[in-house]
Amino acid sequence: MDERYMRLALQLAESARGQTSPNPLVGAVVVKNGEIVGFGAHLKAGEPHAEVHALRMAGEKAEGATVYVTLEPCSHYGRTPPCADLLIEKKVKRVVVATTDPNPLVAGKGIEKLRRAGIDVTVGVLKEEADALNEMFFHYISTKTPYVTLKYAMSLDGKIATKTGESKWITSEDARRDVHRERRMHDAIVVGVGTILADDPSLTVRFGHEGKQPIRIVLDTHLRTPLHANVVTDRMAPTWIVVGHHVTEEQMKPYEHAGVQIIRMNENKIDVPTLLLELGKRNVMSIFVEGGAHVHGSFLRSRSVQQVLAYIAPTLIGGNEAPSAIGGEGFGRMIDALRLQVKHVERIGSDIKIVAKG
Ligand code: NDP
Ligand code: ZN
Repeated sequence: MDERYMRLALQLAESARGQTSPNPLVGAVVVKNGEIVGFGAHLKAGEPHAEVHALRMAGEKAEGATVYVTLEPCSHYGRTPPCADLLIEKKVKRVVVATTDPNPLVAGKGIEKLRRAGIDVTVGVLKEEADALNEMFFHYISTKTPYVTLKYAMSLDGKIATKTGESKWITSEDARRDVHRERRMHDAIVVGVGTILADDPSLTVRFGHEGKQPIRIVLDTHLRTPLHANVVTDRMAPTWIVVGHHVTEEQMKPYEHAGVQIIRMNENKIDVPTLLLELGKRNVMSIFVEGGAHVHGSFLRSRSVQQVLAYIAPTLIGGNEAPSAIGGEGFGRMIDALRLQVKHVERIGSDIKIVAKG
């Protein structure tokens, strides 16, 4: 029974995917005498936590009830008062928690508070599912840097463009639609200026999507992004351009007038680990790195890769000069190669999607 209600709580949590950042996905279900009397999910940062919604719905029926919650109830004052206090105040009898809060400053404290108040607490029901649900958030909280997904569409021989730089389109429309769905799961999309110059992409979530758009981030040491590029002019989503230290205020001005935010690094190059710390400070919890080959190469060299999404088309491009999915220097020895595990394989239209994780 515990698993059944927890599964429902997980589904509720999942339903808000893409809109809670930088907060985790959390769901809660209140059960009394074998009946569901309340449920809720955390929908947006700054808005009530899942427990608050669920307890509100339950009203007086919360007294003596069991509350299923996918993440340890909070015990500290954030933007809202602690949920642990609310559970105690509502006199619930039992709390079932899927997984503990990964923040070492908070971990276990909510559970401890409930237990001290005499509430029966069970921890670990569907823990694996709950950990997978908030993988990005957990990574962000423990490293203070965004969760990195590398994405590419490649031919069966591993090319992401022809030798002349053409890449439209390697994969089918169905696969490209799937990319839009995946983009939405991340806070920001990252590309190199090479991709902007070659393809002038708009990097927005389309195909009927209306909600929040991920931030577009361009890695562009010398500010070569054209002022007429789509990411500068279309105002469809926020655009940040990351530049080297030598770029002047004067150079930055026209971009800022167009609504673009410029992030100037302290060096004359863009070092990936430094960039990730900088983005973490700006509450970017996850990034979707869409190329090109050079940028992928830098992320690989610094081993800053949590997940790879590869869309593979049954097309052969060939050619020594056609770029492969990951360029740059690469590793010289097999022992240094980044080893991942395949988590998911799917046929989409005429293509194959592979999800691999570190
Ligand atoms: P990239 O988009 O990788 O951009 C590379 C440029 O980004 C560099 O030359 C550099 O220019 C700048 N840059 C800034 N910081 C970094 C960093 N830390 N690491 C690496 N580069 C950095 O360009 P590519 O030329 O490699 O790839 C473009 C090609 O790839 C195009 O032909 C495009 O069509 C294709 N493509 C294909 C995709 C697919 O999935 N099939 C996806 C994306 C692109 P600077 O020194 O001036 O800052
Ligand atoms: Zn809370």
